[in-house]
Amino acid sequence: MAGKTSKKVVSAVEAMYGENVFGLNAMKKALSKKAFDSLSKTMNNGGALDPQIATEVAGAMKDWAVAKGATHFCHWFQPLTGTTAEKHDSFISPDGQGGVKMEFSAKELIQGEPDASSFPSGGLRATFEARGYTAWDPTSPAFIKEGAEGATLCIPTIFCGYHGEALDKKAPLLRSIAALAKQMDRAGKMFGVKPVVKSYATLGPEQEYFLIDKAFYEQRLDLVQTGRTLFGRKPARHQQMEDHYFGAIRPRIMAFMEELDQTLWKLGMPSKTRHNEVAPAQFEIAPIYERLNLAVDHNMMCMDVMKQIADKHGLVCLLHEKPFAGVNGSGKHNNWSVVGTDGKNWLNPGSSPHENAKFLFTLCAIIKAVDENAALLRATVASPGNDHRLGANEAPPAIISVFLGDQLTDIIEQLESGEAKSARSGGTIQIGVDVIPTLPRDATDRNRTSPFAFTGNKFEFRALGSNMSPSGANVALNTIVAAAMDEMCTQIESDVKAKKDFNKSLQAVLQAIIKKHKRVLFNGDNYTEEWHKEAERRGLPNFKTTPEALKVLEEEKTIALFEKYAVFSRKELLSRYEIYMHNYKSVLSYEAECARTIAVTQIFPAVVEYQAVLAATVKAVEDAGAKAAAAKDVLGKVCQLADALSAGIKALEASIEAHNPEKMKAAMLQARAAADELEGLVPADLWPLPTYAEMLFLY
Ligand code: ADP
Ligand code: MG
Repeated sequence: MAGKTSKKVVSAVEAMYGENVFGLNAMKKALSKKAFDSLSKTMNNGGALDPQIATEVAGAMKDWAVAKGATHFCHWFQPLTGTTAEKHDSFISPDGQGGVKMEFSAKELIQGEPDASSFPSGGLRATFEARGYTAWDPTSPAFIKEGAEGATLCIPTIFCGYHGEALDKKAPLLRSIAALAKQMDRAGKMFGVKPVVKSYATLGPEQEYFLIDKAFYEQRLDLVQTGRTLFGRKPARHQQMEDHYFGAIRPRIMAFMEELDQTLWKLGMPSKTRHNEVAPAQFEIAPIYERLNLAVDHNMMCMDVMKQIADKHGLVCLLHEKPFAGVNGSGKHNNWSVVGTDGKNWLNPGSSPHENAKFLFTLCAIIKAVDENAALLRATVASPGNDHRLGANEAPPAIISVFLGDQLTDIIEQLESGEAKSARSGGTIQIGVDVIPTLPRDATDRNRTSPFAFTGNKFEFRALGSNMSPSGANVALNTIVAAAMDEMCTQIESDVKAKKDFNKSLQAVLQAIIKKHKRVLFNGDNYTEEWHKEAERRGLPNFKTTPEALKVLEEEKTIALFEKYAVFSRKELLSRYEIYMHNYKSVLSYEAECARTIAVTQIFPAVVEYQAVLAATVKAVEDAGAKAAAAKDVLGKVCQLADALSAGIKALEASIEAHNPEKMKAAMLQARAAADELEGLVPADLWPLPTYAEMLFLY
């Protein structure tokens, strides 16, 4: 070839990636070097924005956004409803000549006062100080949301009360990230790491969802109102054939996925994998992992974007944890790890004794953290929707155990036995001397039944519901691991001060942890009855419902933990308990109300209509002198089930009257049992609701 340099080909994706984000590339172009350096430092290390550059940043951000067609800006935040919120302001400002100019000040960038007093605060905001404030989180870049006729600049913010009380899910997340980074930095120092970065946590959330045709959705009051079907007979064929999983993607779904990926890429969200999931009409999307705070924002954005794009394609994206009874529900797998001051993933088993020491330190910190705080982790995934999954044979159980895989378990056992020979493998592991054999990645990822699994270079917390903000689980995870590392570092630092050998001290600390906490390790099938019994023997908590699980948020031990690491004050934590309990009761009561409405106004009328048809048939046939045995038989069954449905409706009404969530649950099941049986008897053209078979197969 004549030319020495081949011209770089820029793909369409490379060109569009991050197009709608005011990220490092856009900033570099738009800002002075001084402002850029200062802002990128803040983005990487956290902390407050230098007020001196705020005006320049605001101006550049506005110019960038306006050039992309933005007319408005909003502070984008994550209130305790678990969704995202935004209040828009336009950039326009009168120019004094009857026209307008586009303006955006540093103050508008940095702080907002959306008031937003209708968001849940769990008693954190008395009415006299009800004002809520938003404040820019510069660690997550501003982005542009494209609408049908315009665009809006969205600025990720925290949302807090007048005295700084966190009213959202981002503020505690940032605090927990800082708490973990502090302990990781300290551990880095202890291990003699020459720091090149500040420590941080990483997250790659895998997101499951259903897509159904909008026409069916609109005929289902239960889906419209509650996000799940409250009635519906399991169809003859659902997921028995296991032919949907990873199957060829239908063209209509492909079109949705293609537009979804492109929209996410423009937003700088590194969407990576897409495939069919286990249930019919169920799918999954997963990004490449990122820094935790950004990954959480991106997951929240992703859930919003999925709903919008589905709508454009005549589909509805269902993010509920259990939209269809009897068919697999949807979860979110929280792939989490930590990067130390050496810029390396400390959950990556290393190839030198030094790296292994860091790996085993991190691993043991997590084992200790999870065992000591299993109930807390369980609480972070508690929701009425997730109650339908956890404990059923499709999602991890409500018992939180840790899966390490056989090889890593063996290593842990060797480490525990120290210099004495381990019975099982005959080997020993000595910190600072030994290298861990390379763990083949697939060997670690076979057990899909474990709620908390080591998968090669990260831990995967699999009990999150599909609908949930990943924030809560990660706030807890960061904090409990920070606490475990804190304790471990304190011990080792004091040993070293007392002239004990570092490796010996570390070895002793790790051995003590394994001895004490190995009860939380479990490599077997988490779905089995035996494990439930075994877990009980081991004293592992098993909270089956949300109210039981949430109790831990009120306990002094939990309050002390979060206060110690400045993640939640007592008031903030108790407010979460109050809000989540309120949410639980509200969801159950609107579900029960909705079930009653559908049963009374849609199902029952169809049933009596069929009764009338059958009764008339019986009479007509008998009047004609023939025997109507078959019609009589069906009429008898329908009448019996109609009575059962009616009893279910009465039970629903009584439970609603009594404001009793547990009774509501039971009554919904009772009414549903009769209705679902009737669905198998009443002629299809009389049945008022689209069936499971239609919704799950016709898209
Ligand atoms: P699967 O679990 O389906 O086999 P992978 O393990 O490849 O798939 O990835 C699942 C998710 O875990 C992806 O989002 C990926 O980016 C993320 N992930 C991989 N490594 C890390 C890490 N070090 N920290 C956090 N997430 C990670
Ligand atoms: Mg996975």
